[in-house]
Amino acid sequence: MSAAENVQHVQKEIQAVCERVNRSPEEINIIAVTKTVGLDTTQEVLAAGIRHIGENRNEGFLQKYEKIKDGAVWHFIGSIQTRKVRDVINKLDYLHSLDRLSLAAEIQKRAEKQVKCFVQVNTSFEEAKHGLHPDEVLSFIQELASYNKIHVVGLMTMAPYTDDEQQIRTCFRMLKTLQQDVQALNLPYAPCTELSMGMSNDYKIAIEEGATYIRLGTILVGNEK
Ligand SMILES: *Cc1c(COP(=O)(O)O)cnc(C)c1O
Repeated sequence: MSAAENVQHVQKEIQAVCERVNRSPEEINIIAVTKTVGLDTTQEVLAAGIRHIGENRNEGFLQKYEKIKDGAVWHFIGSIQTRKVRDVINKLDYLHSLDRLSLAAEIQKRAEKQVKCFVQVNTSFEEAKHGLHPDEVLSFIQELASYNKIHVVGLMTMAPYTDDEQQIRTCFRMLKTLQQDVQALNLPYAPCTELSMGMSNDYKIAIEEGATYIRLGTILVGNEK
C-alpha cells in the first residue's frame, strides 16, 4: 500500500476507536515516525495530510529537517545524548524524551526559546527502556521549576511489545494517572495536557486510554531498511 493509503486506513481506524470511546478524532495527533524511511516517503505522508514527523536520531532528523523545515511539525522521539542536544534543540518543535536533569540543564544552556517537552516515563519497568520510574516523575517535574526554557506539555511512554493487551493498558493507565497528578500541582511551566503513547501495534488501546499524540512508524510508512 502507498503511504497515502496507509494514512487513510489509519485515519479510519482512529475514527472508529474514537466513536467507540466518545472522543473526537481531532484530539488525536498522528506523528509519522520516519526513522526507517527516506525523504521521499516522508514527503509522501506529508502530502497525504500528516503534519507531524518523528525521528529518533540526530542524523535522520537533520537530514529530513534541512529539506522540509517549516513543512512539518518536528518531534524528537528518541533518547538523546546530552552532547548532541545543541545540534537539534533549536530545530525541533517537541522533545518526547526528557528524563534527567542533566538533559534539562543542557537544554537550558542551548535553547534560544522555550522547548515543548514530554517527560518520558518507564511504565513497563523494563530495564532496556528509558524514562523515569513513575515514582520519580512528580519530584522531577517540580525540580524543573528553575529551568525556564522547559515547558512540560505532557508525558510520554512506550508499552512493552506484547500481545497481552492488559499489560499494555496498565502502562497507559499509569501514564494517565500520573498526568492527573502533575496537573494537580498546578505548575505554570507544566500544564501537562498531552499524552504521547501508542505505536503501530498498540495505538488503539492508547487512544482508548487517553493518548493525544500517537507515534506511528510501520503501519504508516512501512520499513525501507
Ligand atoms: C520507532 C518508534 C515508534 C514507531 O514504532 P512502530 O512500531 O513502527 O509504529 C514510536 N515511538 C518511538 C519512541 C520509536 O522509537
